[in-house]
Amino acid sequence: MNFKVSLECPQCGGPVELEETQRLFTCQYCRSRLHITASGDFRYWLAPKIKTKEELILIPYWRFRGFSLNIKRGKTSARLIDTSCLGVSLKGFPVSLGIRTQSLPLKYITPDMSHFMIEPLPFKEILPAIQSRLNEAENLSVQSVNEKTPSLLLSSYIGETRSIVYQPFYLKDGIVRDAITNTPLHGNGLSGNVSFKRPHDWGLRFIAAQCPDCGWDLEGEQDSMVLFCRNCNTAWSSSEGMLRKINFHIAETDDTGCSIYLPFWKLRARISPIRLENFLDLIRFANLPKVPRPEWAKRAFHFWVPAFKIQPEKFLEISRIATLAQMGSRETTSLPSGKIFTTTLPSQEASEILSALLFEMARPRKTMIDCYEKLKIDVIDTAYVLVPFEETTYLLRHPKTGIGISKGLLQYGRYL
Ligand SMILES: [Zn+2]
Ligand SMILES: [Zn+2]
Repeated sequence: MNFKVSLECPQCGGPVELEETQRLFTCQYCRSRLHITASGDFRYWLAPKIKTKEELILIPYWRFRGFSLNIKRGKTSARLIDTSCLGVSLKGFPVSLGIRTQSLPLKYITPDMSHFMIEPLPFKEILPAIQSRLNEAENLSVQSVNEKTPSLLLSSYIGETRSIVYQPFYLKDGIVRDAITNTPLHGNGLSGNVSFKRPHDWGLRFIAAQCPDCGWDLEGEQDSMVLFCRNCNTAWSSSEGMLRKINFHIAETDDTGCSIYLPFWKLRARISPIRLENFLDLIRFANLPKVPRPEWAKRAFHFWVPAFKIQPEKFLEISRIATLAQMGSRETTSLPSGKIFTTTLPSQEASEILSALLFEMARPRKTMIDCYEKLKIDVIDTAYVLVPFEETTYLLRHPKTGIGISKGLLQYGRYL
């Protein structure tokens, strides 16, 4: 479920309403084309409806939307997650945001916000609470009572959207009140160890959607974190609070009928204790029906993971087929003339899938079951690759690997 964010155009002050995932917009009053970016996580707040003279205190909630992959002995199952969780250890406050974000528009928090903002605990410290809540709901327990061996081996979480949403409260006559409903909290919620210190490297920026090199209008889908300049053939990523030029590859193809390009992350990693350094290692690991050629020892092994959101089972399947295919790609300085699909999944999130991907590729699966406890994966190199697909009425198809993705599924993925 996407929420709406309301803001004032930083150029003219006109009201703008955006989808949560939207990064690129044109102001309908002054026609500015702007791209929104943040260093660190995006931060929003729910503005109070009531007027109060008291100082507002903003309580942080982590919002997480993505999916979990639960790797079990027999197979891996996936589930979509759309949840929020109180980001501080303070008693008395609601444990989640509830349904407020669906009915009230959020506003961006800007670094000059004057209200008291309590800093959330790092997401890593909140994740176990979310995990156990989800496992309980799913009846998955690592120490299942009825089984001698646990069925759940590992869980990974791929967060397509992670942000902080603040709820306003205020203190009057020693009672903490919710500044939206004006109801008092039970118990005194503000006794505890909290920090009001804001992170110094955090910021929200609105950048003109123009090529920093040549000034041409950047092109890209509304929700994409990568934009392109068709004038000087460059790609720009905004995942770290500013536009940074990124190198890009094009996957090799012999097919000329391709009209649309899907973005992938091509990752090279150091893996132990299994050996997966080159194409020959992969043939052994995945038991591929190929007669090994000695020169394949020189072809470095890469993981291939979509850089766009899609339903989790499909995400895992596409990653498996693309990784087993070990397509070639070459760095280029000219953008393809076809359409380029949106990039919505940062490479750090894509790398969270790698352990589940190894389980999907291993033949037999037991290879991974025997060693998963010692498994270490360090990503050492990341490339952004545009992979050409053929387009039919309902389907995008990659000619070489046979990967087929229905257009409906791709569109649906953008609203996950
Ligand atoms: Zn404007
Ligand atoms: Zn340019």
